[in-house]
Amino acid sequence: MWIMIIGSNLAVFHLNVTAPLFVHTLFFIVPFILSGIYNIPRLNITLLCLTLVESTYLYLSYKETYFSTIQIYDLYAVFILFAYIVSISFVKALITRATWNGITKERDTMENRYTSKQNFLRLFIEHTNDAIAIFDLDDSIMEVNPAFEKMYGWSREECIGNKLPLYPEYRREDVRRRSRMVRKGESFQMLEVKDVKRDGTVMDVQLTLNPIFNEKGDVIATSLIARDISFKVEKERLTLEAEKLKVAGEMAAGVAHEIRNPMTVISSFVQMMNAERHNPYREYTAVVETELKRIDEILSEYLVLAKPSATIKSDLNLHKLISDVMILFGPEMNNRKITATVDSVAACAEVVAEEKMMKQLFINLLKNSIEAVENAGIIQVKIENQNDHFIDITITDNGVGMSEEVLNKVFEPFYTTKEAGTGLGMMISQKIINDHGGKIHIESEMDVGTSIKVTLPVVPTNSPVYA
Ligand code: ADP
Ligand code: MG
Repeated sequence: MWIMIIGSNLAVFHLNVTAPLFVHTLFFIVPFILSGIYNIPRLNITLLCLTLVESTYLYLSYKETYFSTIQIYDLYAVFILFAYIVSISFVKALITRATWNGITKERDTMENRYTSKQNFLRLFIEHTNDAIAIFDLDDSIMEVNPAFEKMYGWSREECIGNKLPLYPEYRREDVRRRSRMVRKGESFQMLEVKDVKRDGTVMDVQLTLNPIFNEKGDVIATSLIARDISFKVEKERLTLEAEKLKVAGEMAAGVAHEIRNPMTVISSFVQMMNAERHNPYREYTAVVETELKRIDEILSEYLVLAKPSATIKSDLNLHKLISDVMILFGPEMNNRKITATVDSVAACAEVVAEEKMMKQLFINLLKNSIEAVENAGIIQVKIENQNDHFIDITITDNGVGMSEEVLNKVFEPFYTTKEAGTGLGMMISQKIINDHGGKIHIESEMDVGTSIKVTLPVVPTNSPVYA
């Protein structure tokens, strides 16, 4: 290129020196046209300087000769050259425009693709149910998504630029060690741990921690994806509880039956001994008899557990059933001047359930209420339709109420606060309710009273609620 263009320039210069005519100077334009095609800046400048030096030299040496040699043909030549330059630049402009259009189009499609990809990414991050947070290398939060705000309870403004207590104090060392490892490029998947919400509530979460790299492969930030799995942990706990109940039931089945038989024998002998007027140990045998009665009571409660659940279900009217149970407690309530009412606001109080179980359930609950109230206490039973499928039975008393601790343990087997309690009543009630596909909910305040709400399905589903 250089040789061709500089060579052509020198050739024109040589022509001008050997034949110094005005028309020959016009040929100096040719190397410029050629170099315009290749468009190399250094070559253009070199050519310009060279031409300037040459034309100055020619002008100084042949000034007179030039003006005397101008002819009319030279003007034609100027005109043709001008037309030539115009047409060449026109063609070049057309070509450039076509290329430019192509480039712009390509850039636009690339830009579109990029922005739509970014849009999808943004939409995904904003609408996913998983909490996402990005941390800088100092462990301050750089960005969070709406799910994070909802799950942890901190607003985006409170998060950004800050280090927040997202985990319980005892996990601090563990968290620090892990973030150090993530900053070194390691990842952690599906960690099941406990995190803390803004209001202090502890929740079970599944965490995924990842480093974020730049193009050079350096870690520039870290990301956290958290999923709330409290419901899963709760379900596991309930399944475990159901499993425990089942085992307790199976054990009870074996033991209770075995004990019952020798007990019947002992009991009948003791009764006989008690009936004997000359029995010198009557005082003791009387105690033996009451104690035996108590053992029998405990065994009966055990046997409820042991029975295969929900066998024969029939249509029951809860209003009638509960009123019948109340009659059982009539003498005791009269003695202690306890007022009890059964209030049915249910248009239809019929359920499909096992009668014996239902009786056992309301005996257990009413017995607890009677034991909880002082003399002249008040017990109210309210039956109402929650909707077409569920009936609520609420038993409210103004008794001693339960402390936080009692509330937490009330369904545990053998948990009792009473001197002569068995600690089985509530557990059995819960089992009966579960077997019928219902739910139990307790609200209680110390020295104010207790309200126990039992929700039963009108037609039971076969599976217990947590199975
Ligand atoms: P028990 O009646 O033999 O103690 P339960 O399983 O029936 O066993 O009840 C467990 C405990 O729950 C009771 O000891 C009592 O502390 C508490 N409780 C149950 N129902 C009530 C109630 N209505 N009011 C106050 N405490 C109650
Ligand atoms: Mg009880």
